[in-house]
Amino acid sequence: MDAGRVSKKRGVRTCVACGASESKIAFARIVRRPDGTAAYDPTGREAGRGAYVCGPGCLAKARKSDKLGRALRCALKDSDYERIASEMEASASDRPSE
Ligand SMILES: [Zn+2]
Repeated sequence: MDAGRVSKKRGVRTCVACGASESKIAFARIVRRPDGTAAYDPTGREAGRGAYVCGPGCLAKARKSDKLGRALRCALKDSDYERIASEMEASASDRPSE
């Protein structure tokens, strides 16, 4: 067996704010696009470095200590966090509850 590997399960992601680990579908993905801007990625498939949060609450937590910026290795401004938060909210209200 491959005991040296960290991940036992495929598709498990970790929230950058609270450290919770869940399967990928439970998380909101933030992607750093090739032009260096960060954006909410509702499909979870956009190319680029990704970071995950549980939802708007953890996004707000990540903003306080700029964990998202560190995870994505790019500088995120307040306006970036605000844009991502509103994109996340718009997408959440758009979707039937699961
Ligand atoms: Zn979280």
